[in-house]
Amino acid sequence: MSLPNNPFEIAQRQLDEAAAILGLSPAMHAFLREPMRELHFSIPVQMDDGSYQVFQGFRVQYNDARGPAKGGIRFHPDETIDTVRALAAWMTWKTSVVDIPLGGGKGGVICDPKHLSEGELERLSRGFMRRVAHFIGPEKDVPAPDVYTTPQIMAWMMDEYEVITGRHLPGVITGKPLNLFGSLGRGDATARGGVYTVREAAKVLGIDLKGAPAAIQGFGNAGQFAHQLGRDILGLKTVAVSDTKGGIYNANGLDYEAVLAWKHETGSVINLKGSDNITNAELLELPVTVLFPSALEGIITADNAMRVKAKIVAELANGPTTPEADCILFENGVYVIPDFLCNAGGVTVSYFEQVQDAYNFYWPLDEVQARLDVKMTKAFHAVHDMAQAQHAHNRLGAYLVSVKRVAEAVATRGWVR
Ligand code: NAD
Repeated sequence: MSLPNNPFEIAQRQLDEAAAILGLSPAMHAFLREPMRELHFSIPVQMDDGSYQVFQGFRVQYNDARGPAKGGIRFHPDETIDTVRALAAWMTWKTSVVDIPLGGGKGGVICDPKHLSEGELERLSRGFMRRVAHFIGPEKDVPAPDVYTTPQIMAWMMDEYEVITGRHLPGVITGKPLNLFGSLGRGDATARGGVYTVREAAKVLGIDLKGAPAAIQGFGNAGQFAHQLGRDILGLKTVAVSDTKGGIYNANGLDYEAVLAWKHETGSVINLKGSDNITNAELLELPVTVLFPSALEGIITADNAMRVKAKIVAELANGPTTPEADCILFENGVYVIPDFLCNAGGVTVSYFEQVQDAYNFYWPLDEVQARLDVKMTKAFHAVHDMAQAQHAHNRLGAYLVSVKRVAEAVATRGWVR
């Protein structure tokens, strides 16, 4: 049976599978299938030409049994309430799998930020905060950046919240600029967390990563840092990288600084001297030790999963592997580190930002990184052990770990048994 296209129905289907294995009661299952709270609102914004536009916004608090809801805010023309619900559900499982004391939430505004001036964007951001200020807060729900929202937008929103409440509460939002109560180490946290999980996977699989070939699809924030940190922490030799225009390959390895400089100069990685151009499809099928999908969802499917030769697929992107492909990779012995474990380093350092804001005391970089390593390593082994015990693929293992923790918190609170 094929999966539905509605992202929230997909999220519910994934929960259903875990709920059946965990033997959740029908009431617990029903409770975890729906968001606990949603706010829908309109934001009037005066545009630069003096006219007014009204934007639709949402904030979903999916579950806060384990702590305040946590999750980003997207500004996107195609935003829908079901996308926000699905992302809020996935945030609930992500904060649980890395065992940070937070729940899951998400927000969005239907808008096209590419067509807004800086002033319009600021008024929209402050307008968003005026609508949600009484719904969120450091002890209730803590937003963060997501698609098309930036540290500057987080700064405007934090400032608006402090004006409304009359208090200094920077922990109302994370992903803030460093000069305004952000955390060191947030920039590369997603890739760094993923690299730590690859290190642990190699240990349990008995693979030597020194000089081993790697391929990276998507040379953006996550992919670029995966190249750099894969080299610096694991000794990986990245032989292929790509972006929307295509990929490049060199069996002897691609120099990180050279690729980065070329990408900055030309806007793409393709045509780098000393490398051969390849397609994105070819990159996914290279005989590498580690493949980092770091771009889009739905790129490893039933059509190409048979040809994936990587030993480890480390999903820095959200949702790169379809459920059908998951089963094929599992049968072929490809070790997948699932997205909501592999890319959880970002939310983990966002949590550290909240903690530092609450104490008004800021940690040095090495402390942030050491604490991130502890969290990611522990989460990796919890998922690996669960998957092994259940003879299941790692994604199901991750669901079982995280849903079980949330259900236990809900039951211990006495909400549902
Ligand atoms: P980004 O926009 O910085 O980079 C995305 C890169 O992917 C770009 O280089 C783009 O050219 C490339 N790309 C887009 N379409 C492609 C295609 N069809 N084929 C090949 N390359 C393509 O985004 P990012 O922040 O690096 O996020 C990448 C993925 O990681 C997303 O799925 C995102 O949800 C996930 N993620 C990111 C973070 C984070 O902290 N940045 C955290 C969690 C998850």
